Amino acid sequence: MVYEKMYNSNDEEDAPMDQRPMHSVIRQMMQQQGKRFWAGDNISEYVTRNKDRLIDEATEAFEHVLDALLIDRKTDPNSQGTARRLAKMYYNEIMAGRYEPAPDCTAFPNDSEDRYEGMLVVRSELRSMCSHHHQPVNGVAYIGIIAAEKLIGLSKYTRIAQWCARRGTLQEELCNDIAREIQKATGAKDVGVYIQATHGCCENRGIMAHSSLTQTTVLKGAFKDDAGTKKEFFDNIKLQQDFAPR
Ligand SMILES: [Zn+2]
Repeated sequence: MVYEKMYNSNDEEDAPMDQRPMHSVIRQMMQQQGKRFWAGDNISEYVTRNKDRLIDEATEAFEHVLDALLIDRKTDPNSQGTARRLAKMYYNEIMAGRYEPAPDCTAFPNDSEDRYEGMLVVRSELRSMCSHHHQPVNGVAYIGIIAAEKLIGLSKYTRIAQWCARRGTLQEELCNDIAREIQKATGAKDVGVYIQATHGCCENRGIMAHSSLTQTTVLKGAFKDDAGTKKEFFDNIKLQQDFAPR
């Protein structure tokens, strides 16, 4: 019952501000401002200056999880630092895309006479985590755009994709998120995103399917409406897959 009391958000919110855990203060602020904070949402503007304190609070919470799992984190040398390792890993690595602001994408003008008007397809390796089971998702995204008035550096496509991926995601949502953020960064309306990924929650548990592969596609603008553009996109993906080292 102690833990229930400790984690009851209403109790926390009744306490004086300076005695409350930081995550409780931030959660209340987001609720009051109507800010959604689902596993796949970026909340970097609420977190930046408070990350160290939030990692301390998450460490304490993971200690309770290990205790509840009846793991001896006092004498088992391999479990002694696990709560802190988990807290840091969530904040700084596997969910970093929730807590860090969008990558800085300098856009270069593409409006001269000899502007590039063709299709660009970038292959980006992804590491993500499913929101349902917190199991790893490994895969690649193929990001296609028809160049608009701005171009961004090639590495930025992958930075954006990884920023979207390093959260708790559903592959369907992730595909949408990447397409939207690429549109935002490039100003291009014609964008296609195709993701191929394996899911730890299908491989390590449940159906234990070791060769399952999930594909998702999001098509915007000409990628959706023009059969030729769509075909070129998928032909390019095929060329990349024939080329890419496995
Ligand atoms: Zn899952």
